[in-house]
Amino acid sequence: MEVRKGIEVAGIVQGVGFRPYVYRLAHELGLTGAIANTVAGVAIEVEGPTASVEAFLDRLPRELPPLARITSLAIRDLACDHDAEFRILPSRLGDERRALISPDVAICDDCLRELFDPADRRYHYPFINCTNCGPRFTIVREIPYDRPRTSMGVFPLCPACQREYDDPGNRRFHAQPNACWDCGPRVELWDVRGTRVETGEPVAEAAARLASGAVVAVKGLGGFHLAADATNAVAVELLRARKRRVGKPFAIMVRDLKTLEQFCEVDDLARGLLLGPERPVVLLRKKHPTPIAEAVAPDIRELGVFLPYTPLHHLLFAAGQFLALVMTSGNLSEEPITIENQEAVARLSELADFFLVHNRDILVRCDDSVTRASGGRVRQLRRSRGFVPVPVFLGKDMPGVLAVGGELKNTICLTRGRQAFLSQHIGDLENLESHRFFEEAIEHLEQVLEIEPQVVAYDLHPDYFSTRWALGQKGIERVGVQHHHAHIASCMAENHLEGQVIGFALDGTGYGTDGNVWGGEVLAADYRSFSRAAHFRYVPMPGGAAAIHEPWRMAVSYLAQHFGERLWGLPINFVKQLDRRQAEVLVRMAGRGVNSPLTSSCGRLFDAVAALVGIRQRVTYEAQAAIELEAAIGGGDTTAYPLELSTDGTGWVIETKPLFEALISDLGRNETVGLISRRFHNGLIEVFLRLANLLRERTGLQRVCLSGGTFQNV
Ligand SMILES: [Zn+2]
Ligand SMILES: [Zn+2]
Repeated sequence: MEVRKGIEVAGIVQGVGFRPYVYRLAHELGLTGAIANTVAGVAIEVEGPTASVEAFLDRLPRELPPLARITSLAIRDLACDHDAEFRILPSRLGDERRALISPDVAICDDCLRELFDPADRRYHYPFINCTNCGPRFTIVREIPYDRPRTSMGVFPLCPACQREYDDPGNRRFHAQPNACWDCGPRVELWDVRGTRVETGEPVAEAAARLASGAVVAVKGLGGFHLAADATNAVAVELLRARKRRVGKPFAIMVRDLKTLEQFCEVDDLARGLLLGPERPVVLLRKKHPTPIAEAVAPDIRELGVFLPYTPLHHLLFAAGQFLALVMTSGNLSEEPITIENQEAVARLSELADFFLVHNRDILVRCDDSVTRASGGRVRQLRRSRGFVPVPVFLGKDMPGVLAVGGELKNTICLTRGRQAFLSQHIGDLENLESHRFFEEAIEHLEQVLEIEPQVVAYDLHPDYFSTRWALGQKGIERVGVQHHHAHIASCMAENHLEGQVIGFALDGTGYGTDGNVWGGEVLAADYRSFSRAAHFRYVPMPGGAAAIHEPWRMAVSYLAQHFGERLWGLPINFVKQLDRRQAEVLVRMAGRGVNSPLTSSCGRLFDAVAALVGIRQRVTYEAQAAIELEAAIGGGDTTAYPLELSTDGTGWVIETKPLFEALISDLGRNETVGLISRRFHNGLIEVFLRLANLLRERTGLQRVCLSGGTFQNV
């Protein structure tokens, strides 16, 4: 018997080789019908013997091309049409545009082979790609995803590329960024004035400059990188000085996996991340000795590494002999990454000696993602290029919500149905450029996802740019959310949890409902509300934000709180080395509450301990003291510094006094920093475990959610 079925597929099914895949499958099974891109995804009709149609429906979701993802699949019966063949129909436009755009994808093995095959017509062509790889999110202006709506629209296909594009049997069938030497974008090398360097081999020329210690700005997928030879200490220091970046680690791009394994520890999970199509930066333990300059990532145990992901990267490594290149975002300090050629020359001419540019426009900024494998699982530290705009799938339907995020490391989120779309990394909302990027990112995501949010959610902190922006929106419901409640709710949403949970939200700063600076919070929470079950005892932050940049201030504040006047006689180097007058001013400020907000922050506790043991008195990047305290941890010891619980009428208060007493007596005995760091970590783990058990007894709740920056500590 012959049957005909209509199948509506939603998900990432455009620009990922989905139609040729379906075309081949239909041909293989001898089915007739058609497939077309729709605004929602693709629509398929297949007709043939019942068994063949069933085989088609069975195999369709199971043998997908590597980048395709199906989020929903609706099948209905149709009357037989008796068509003669299976055809791919042109895209049709409609009112709703729900197809998902693929993220940008690292070059695939097939294209890589062609790139280095002298007989191939795209030999050494820096923009080679196919339906399984290449730029996507960063070149799309609007949907449906078709060449005219991308930054490839200005490059008409040559006859050879057009033939590939039109041939359903070709792996470049409807590959929107398809291009070659004859018809596609070109690379040029520019000097600091933006003048083209006369050379027939711009990539080889750039590699030669890098090898001689220059800083070269390289246009990538989601923006410019600043590149320098990572084994050349002088070049790395030069880049640091120019970028005004003192201690924050640089990511490095390494020639290949084999090279990388010589100076980093790589397990299977990390290997999967390094070689995956997303090509994130992966944090890996350093090996010693190492050819990588110490200035790449000073004073920490890990290196942020990634492998080449564009054809241009591969060509650069092939042309030069370097093992690894520093590849850091092309920007000054915390400004957004640069994407446009002239903008690069204007903004980066003091940072770079040369510019390796090209004429395929980047329409959307997108920084590199950062991940780590720990505890047998992949952890996202920065979810950006390669992952955005793949949604996080939710357990239930949501109205259209725009969530505008916090002040530091900002991302925004838009929801639609069961999908939450997180934006690329926007960064710290501290300057005009990042404010613009924030607005651009919202506008672009709303446009390509066709979401008109009914609710805007914002952090309670009245001074955050994102909060002020949200409060300025008209004609939309505005909902303020407490920072740590948002942490726990996001963990619940990601894991499809309903009901109430025990939540540990540990981080640096979040505006509390009492106006204090929260950051060491244990909550009993559901999506709608929370109660604060426990928190660290408040301690003043003398000087406010200055106490975040100068951990020694927090150490003084804790000591003053716990020891009063006895602080000055404590037999430890930290106290002996204090500038007594300066420290006394701090103690008086804290005592009178002058410019000394109260905090329960877990991050500030790490800071205080790092300062006390002599690791760091001042930080040059966020969480530096905590990261270095973690890096200093020594093995073996099971002693835990004691933390006590008291009550304040509404919940438990975690008392840090006994911890500091034990720590100071260890310092007096000249115990090692490694041992003290270990005992401090053990103490925290023990008190959190105790609290989780107490809360379970009191509430009957069995599930614990952990969230917040402190949990980046392995
Ligand atoms: Zn490819
Ligand atoms: Zn061509």
